[in-house]
Amino acid sequence: MVTLEDVKKAQLGNKDFVHYTPILTSAQLDDLCGNRVFLKAEHLQKTGSFKIRGAANKVQQAVKEGANYITAASSGNHGQAVAYMANRLGVPVTIVVPEDANAVKIAAIEAYNGKIVKCGTTSAERIPKAMEIAEQNNGVFIPPYDDPYIIAGQGTLGLEILEQVPNAEIIVVPVGGGGLISGILTAVKQLNPEIKVIGVEPATANDTFLSLQTGEITAIPATSTIADGLRTSQPGDLTFPIVKEYLDDLVLVSEEEIRDAFHFIVERTKQVIEPSSAVTIAAILSCKLNVEGKHIVAVLSGGNVDLLQMDEFLSLK
Ligand SMILES: *Cc1c(COP(=O)(O)O)cnc(C)c1O
Repeated sequence: MVTLEDVKKAQLGNKDFVHYTPILTSAQLDDLCGNRVFLKAEHLQKTGSFKIRGAANKVQQAVKEGANYITAASSGNHGQAVAYMANRLGVPVTIVVPEDANAVKIAAIEAYNGKIVKCGTTSAERIPKAMEIAEQNNGVFIPPYDDPYIIAGQGTLGLEILEQVPNAEIIVVPVGGGGLISGILTAVKQLNPEIKVIGVEPATANDTFLSLQTGEITAIPATSTIADGLRTSQPGDLTFPIVKEYLDDLVLVSEEEIRDAFHFIVERTKQVIEPSSAVTIAAILSCKLNVEGKHIVAVLSGGNVDLLQMDEFLSLK
């Protein structure tokens, strides 16, 4: 299992590559939910999401071990983060994206000198392709969440939260494959086990919720949610045991609740976030945490939204 030491090492090693992102607050949000909410602003992170934390830790390690070629399979934030890091370290990088990947995300990867290969529409098609390209070039494939260096890197977000909000009582985190939340759990539950960590999934992408119910990794069929960073079909072999052992609760939010929360953040706080970030706000605004008068940290995990799609994501209410 990943340890607190691993997370601390990642924080030190990542220093030159990762922003220390600010905490934002909104009096309106506090009033609406009856708690004091602190927004950890990872939409202002390098490459536009927290994914750079894991990628920085893992790509540095791969290069240290002699990798001279890097690949990843991703349609979004992980691809951008890996391309950015490989480029910073001067290593050639190929990102395998779906055939229907959006032009904005491709342009971002290309801006970091990432080579694009298009393949299929599912991660089951993309991942073997990215592994094959890595193998052909004597390189290393960088997985999106199920890797100890990725988990430790994402955990650095937990360390920052404890430094910035020392009186935090609850931390609310979006859950996809579980790299982010298992990293945060690793850091927070060692340093202050009193703090509750609560995960949030879209109701239509509830693989971790179901896995916790059954007690074992449970896959769901292809999902559809506007929170595209959370569209994984099952938690990871490394991330799930951490989630199972330490997570305090996991709540589900509907597509409408995600839209309402997205609308609220854009309109009231003027922050450009992506729908995956809005699930934590959705859980708070819909009162699903069932708490009052608490200090709550909500992770805004990323801001890479296609501006042309903004109005599609905004609630029509
Ligand atoms: C990847 C991602 C998530 C989910 O992270 P996991 O480590 O897969 O659980 C949440 N939000 C954004 C913006 C992401 O890019």
